[in-house]
Amino acid sequence: MRRAEQEPRRAPGASVTLKPGRERPMRQRHPWIFSGAIESLGKDIENGTVADVTSASGEFVARGMVSLRSQITVRILTFERDEAVDATFWEKRLARAFGTRPGVGAARCVNAESDGLPGLVVDRYGDFVVLQSSTAGVDRHRTDIVKALERVAAPRGIYERSDVDGREKEGLPARTGLLAGEEPPELVEIEEPSHGGAVTLLVDVRGGHKTGAYLDQAENRRLVTRDVAGRDVLNVFSYTGGFALHAARAGARRVVNVDSSARALELSERTAARNGFAGRFEHVKSDAFEELRRLREAGQAFDLVIVDPPKLSRSAGHVERAARAYKDLSRIAMHVTRPGGLLATFSCSGAVSTDLFQKIVWSASLEAGRDAQIVARLTQASDHPVLLTFPEGEYLKGLLCRIW
Ligand code: SAH
Repeated sequence: MRRAEQEPRRAPGASVTLKPGRERPMRQRHPWIFSGAIESLGKDIENGTVADVTSASGEFVARGMVSLRSQITVRILTFERDEAVDATFWEKRLARAFGTRPGVGAARCVNAESDGLPGLVVDRYGDFVVLQSSTAGVDRHRTDIVKALERVAAPRGIYERSDVDGREKEGLPARTGLLAGEEPPELVEIEEPSHGGAVTLLVDVRGGHKTGAYLDQAENRRLVTRDVAGRDVLNVFSYTGGFALHAARAGARRVVNVDSSARALELSERTAARNGFAGRFEHVKSDAFEELRRLREAGQAFDLVIVDPPKLSRSAGHVERAARAYKDLSRIAMHVTRPGGLLATFSCSGAVSTDLFQKIVWSASLEAGRDAQIVARLTQASDHPVLLTFPEGEYLKGLLCRIW
């Protein structure tokens, strides 16, 4: 092998030097380097390029992608000096991630940092895969990544949905569109196992939320709807009615979806019809807080209430305000839960810890004057793994509570 091939492909001098002692988090294999830890950046470094990170004393620490505009200046790809970031690298990492997911159906196949690929999410919906980049580094290596994805996953089409929050912090515009192969159809059908059989979800890959669906809730949709045969279910923040569909398949009597998005409810109605539940769901287009209050005033109550709001805390600075909103939601949801019924209440804000969320729900139960027992602790689906050295990867938490 020629010597040039053995060496990592990088521009000479493309290196990042840390301040004294600031390599400690990296010795513990944390994949982020904040701007405050950096002494100097090599002059040749361009946004998104791969650079070597060295300690103040000049030792190799890691190799990662540089984001010149972000507070997180480097996202580490490898701690191994000999591991080059070339075409083979992307293929190897993608193959490892895809190898731990089911070979068919819908799944998050690449979960960013937790799969050793910071800034990159890849979701599969049947024969199509959706790529979501949130960093300058992934944007810059998009072509290599797409080629590697074609080899690893052999999809019918690769569609980009890099219109995710956080790109503005990197100074990147939103980007969506076809990257390779065929354009996905308006709605891609995916199956989810549920109690009483499977359900079919219709996923708007090109225009839906996230990459089209909330795959992180797939396992919870099944879990919380286990005992709903003959029961009444209220699904607040329903999106396209995933929880409702599982409830109906499991034999629920009455199913009400509440969402502020007309498009989401329209898709919910179409999805219901696709599953043989045409006209079976009640759809309420409303603000969730208002509708919960209205239901309470109307004296309505349900055996299972699901509350799955969007991220209410955008950053650590907003935690207090978000905590209040989560508490209000859980409290008014308890008011419309029949004694002995279940409330599944969620938060997908990374800034709200699991501990804090439990305190929030505790406080809601005190204010509601209702006893609440935790019957299950819920988290993101198993295809959204959390790397132990990257606890920031855990964001979805929920409590399934019996309310008295
Ligand atoms: N439970 C869903 C995902 C919910 S995502 C699933 O399993 O697929 C959150 C939803 O809340 C989105 O559909 C969004 O349209 C809706 N939403 C956001 N703000 C809202 C509000 N104030 N009132 C009602 N719905 C709202």
